[in-house]
Amino acid sequence: MIEIKTASGSNRDVHRVGALNTPQRLGPVAIIFLGPPGAGKGTQARHVANVYRFPHISTGDVFRSHVAKKTPLGLQAAKIMSRGMLVPDEVVCGMLSEHIRGLGFAGCLILDGFPRSVAQAKWLDRFLYMRSGVSHDLQCNAPAAIQISIERDQLLRRLAGRRSCPTCGRTYNLYFQPPRNPGICDYEGAELVMRPDDSENVVRERLMIHDQNALPVTEYYLRKGRLLEIDGNKAAEAVRTAIAVELESVFALARA
Ligand code: AMP
Repeated sequence: MIEIKTASGSNRDVHRVGALNTPQRLGPVAIIFLGPPGAGKGTQARHVANVYRFPHISTGDVFRSHVAKKTPLGLQAAKIMSRGMLVPDEVVCGMLSEHIRGLGFAGCLILDGFPRSVAQAKWLDRFLYMRSGVSHDLQCNAPAAIQISIERDQLLRRLAGRRSCPTCGRTYNLYFQPPRNPGICDYEGAELVMRPDDSENVVRERLMIHDQNALPVTEYYLRKGRLLEIDGNKAAEAVRTAIAVELESVFALARA
């Protein structure tokens, strides 16, 4: 039997839980990261994915890779994304379903930036049910949604300072997590870039759209008893610990 350490446990212990058990049987079929753009969803989701060795799927990243490759989907999405709008539900769901099938992985998924509407959340429940064949009425298998909340001032500074490496995709922040040499990736030496949709007017649009859509999605998971709320105003390390503690209890519940 595998021991799960609680609050004071190290990442290694959390890792053992995820790595040694069959996620479908012993934990949620998906871990969903919710929160406004700039709340740190991507950083935290990538970390959890590394710790548990689950695939990290950011629908924004998948769209950006389609845009870069100029696929028909990319050409369609680029116009919408550059205005900070949401891609229609059926397009996102179709793309996500194809992407997940392409992974050839049967276990728990880490979803970042999806769902962004109740229609997407309902689609996801149906999709995960078909994929795992296990009813999510058994709470231990239900997707767990981690809601990262953050104050608006903090959020705007994070978005304005966000830069990424075009080569390796690592993200930095000019205010909170600057590279060693200004404007240069610590690992690749490449010049850091700002996402086109992080410009001030597009950010404003993205936040407005987020505000319109987020509450019903949060309520959807709250009603189902699957919402884990995290204070995202703290430093990334503290947020990481708070998430680890919440996830430990989710996995412990699944094993009970
Ligand atoms: P993100 O990197 O998550 O902020 O996503 C960047 C852009 O991709 C968003 O502003 C949307 O245009 C599009 N996008 C990503 N995920 C979704 C989604 N679940 N639903 C609709 N549009 C999305």
